[in-house]
Amino acid sequence: MKPLKAINDLFRHNQPLEAQISGVFKRFFDKGWYILGSEVGSFEKEFAQYCGVEFAIGVANGTDAIELGLRALGVQAGQKVALVANAGGYGTIGINAIDAVPVYVDVDATTFNMDVKSLEAVLDKQDIKAIIVTHLYGNLANIDEISNLASSKGIKLMEDCAQAHGAYRQGKKAGSWGDLATFSFYPTKNLGALGDGGAIVTKDATIAERVKQFRQYGWDQKYRSTLCYGRNSRLDEIQAAILRIKLPLLNEWNARRSAIAGLYGALINHPRIILPRVSGADHVAHLYVIRTGQRASLSQHLRASDVPHDIHFPVPDHRQPMFLDRFSDVVLPVSEVLCNEVLTLPCFPEMNDEEVNWVAAAVNKWIP
Ligand SMILES: *Cc1c(COP(=O)(O)O)cnc(C)c1O
Repeated sequence: MKPLKAINDLFRHNQPLEAQISGVFKRFFDKGWYILGSEVGSFEKEFAQYCGVEFAIGVANGTDAIELGLRALGVQAGQKVALVANAGGYGTIGINAIDAVPVYVDVDATTFNMDVKSLEAVLDKQDIKAIIVTHLYGNLANIDEISNLASSKGIKLMEDCAQAHGAYRQGKKAGSWGDLATFSFYPTKNLGALGDGGAIVTKDATIAERVKQFRQYGWDQKYRSTLCYGRNSRLDEIQAAILRIKLPLLNEWNARRSAIAGLYGALINHPRIILPRVSGADHVAHLYVIRTGQRASLSQHLRASDVPHDIHFPVPDHRQPMFLDRFSDVVLPVSEVLCNEVLTLPCFPEMNDEEVNWVAAAVNKWIP
């Protein structure tokens, strides 16, 4: 077996599509239209249909999707947005971009997703305008309960689906619960472009219209801005065309990711490692994340064994250096422990069983 080159080997992922994707460039040369044309329009229709919602709007990336999404939901500077602190910081960055205020909610120790009890406690004490729920590592959060809670209190709900394209529960896809949902098509995501890309999906025609304006200078028509804070955040035609080639393959890729996670679950057997529960259609295994109290030792062992691995994510949002001591009185016991204990193993659709076996064997050989 050749050694694994990366935790997510994108060459192996995209190489089989090389001929088809090269065809895109040829078409573009012949056509001479690059921004907001038929490819973006068609992708938006196809992706909305895939998610089971009425509207999808392509934007430049997943972080812009969060920022524009918050604006489209009517969140104003100074208003509070509840979110978790263990999901990479993207929600916080979107909130900062509009000068809103992040309010952090702790997560559940088994799912690593937003803890409903902690959310209830926050909603009881504070005036929250919107909630961002991240479906972390590909695993749908407790979204039924959270969406009931949000609608009973008249709070807007945004799903961050950047790690959960195609996950579904009881026939409902990621992105179909919230008032609005955001996606990233960063190359490593379950559905990835060959560059940056993102989308917002929604069932609400008014929200969709607002997002379309925010992504293009606040225009309601050419050269006429009716919304403040509009800017340029568009999905490229080329990336949209590539995403249209890839979307029909997403379910197959997700199934293979889940199979790999299942194989890890059967093979890794180490008393100091806690494995994630990855089973069923509501977990699309974007990342296979294990947990151990002796992470530095495991990481060193894996490095010595040439097993690519990473940490998603090491610094919780409320402890990011940019905040100085602004959140020093905020304590999130579970999130803080998880940031010190999680470790990600390779899990991408092109990995073969032999490679999964090899990674699992290397992990099992760890002597803490
Ligand atoms: C990747 C990611 C984003 C941001 O997407 P970009 O396209 O890289 O801006 C947002 N949220 C989550 C959970 C992500 O994993």
